[in-house]
Amino acid sequence: MPIQRLPVLDKETMKDLDSTIRMLQGRLLRPELLQGAAYSVPRSEGLVKLDSMENPYDLPDEMRWKWLESLSEAKLNRYPDAHPDLLLEQIKLHGDIPPEMGLVLGNGSDELIQILVAAVAGTGKPILAAEPSFTMYRLLAGHLGLPFVGVPLDSDLRLDRTAFIEAMKNCSPSIVFLDWPNNPSGRLFPAEDLEAIIEAAPGLVVVDEAYHAFSQQTFASRLGQYPNLLLLRTLSKEGLAGLRLGFLAGPRVWTEQLDKLRLPYNINILTQQSALFFLRHPEVLAQQAAQIREQRDWLYGKMLELGIRVWSSQANFLLFCLPGKAATVDSGLRKKKILIKSFTGHPRLSDHLRVSIGTRQENEAFLAALESLL
Ligand SMILES: *Cc1c(COP(=O)(O)O)cnc(C)c1O
Repeated sequence: MPIQRLPVLDKETMKDLDSTIRMLQGRLLRPELLQGAAYSVPRSEGLVKLDSMENPYDLPDEMRWKWLESLSEAKLNRYPDAHPDLLLEQIKLHGDIPPEMGLVLGNGSDELIQILVAAVAGTGKPILAAEPSFTMYRLLAGHLGLPFVGVPLDSDLRLDRTAFIEAMKNCSPSIVFLDWPNNPSGRLFPAEDLEAIIEAAPGLVVVDEAYHAFSQQTFASRLGQYPNLLLLRTLSKEGLAGLRLGFLAGPRVWTEQLDKLRLPYNINILTQQSALFFLRHPEVLAQQAAQIREQRDWLYGKMLELGIRVWSSQANFLLFCLPGKAATVDSGLRKKKILIKSFTGHPRLSDHLRVSIGTRQENEAFLAALESLL
């Protein structure tokens, strides 16, 4: 076949440029990428931000100054520490990870999901997760050219263990992701169900404990008990979303392989030093997490009193259903300067909304606004 040469374009005719590039993309890029959408983040300036599970509390002034002081010696002219042993040790201590396990650090746990999926890309075997569950599993499988199988939760958003195991038998996934608690339902599926799934899985099972600070449950002590179990955590939801630090824990024989896909120096020096500081001073964030859990249970009770169908949650958010009204309530809240997450257009959750737990004041403002819109 003759080499197809690309035309050299006249700089004035920009429209030719775009259409020529599109033709080239059609030849070069994977169709999943061309058809797929980017992860979209709404603008939130000036809004009460209750859409993305952040910790709503500021740091106490004294702590903020100590933290800044701890950064003052960071050597920005040097590459970050490629062997941050102290940080790894603190992460294991803080996370109750058995000391003999290995760790891979990620620029957020999103990056670790990407590394996991990249590790099996090319095998053609699917990635499997519950439907609904965290969007990035599906998104990253698509980006890396792998099929994604979503196993529906039941009508009450419980895990259907039998269906899940059946689906694994049918499609032999290379990786099963289980967000525990589940995002967006906030449900903490029974640990026995997870164990049965881990035992029946033909490949890896990654238990994603992004909301560990609010569920206070973990599979950490089970690491090493199963050859196919890995654990994913992040500092994002407990109060350090801006740092971008997640970690994957599991037997070293696994982490050594996955670490090959990590870009060198992926954790910058400011993140490393800040994480070390906060892991050494865990009281403030732990206390804030306790406040968030208390606020979650308070808001849950109040929403039930309003007659709303709301799921009891072990995370820092609440999923609720407003049949026929979700879209108007969402835009009504937006007009009142409150941003939450809407699932309009979602195949399973079209009448559902998800609110992250804010400060007492924010939660009260949300509740009052919601009540006025019902
Ligand atoms: C938010 C979230 C993450 C991603 O967290 P980052 O560390 O901020 O990338 C991972 N898993 C689940 C289930 C989440 O909800």
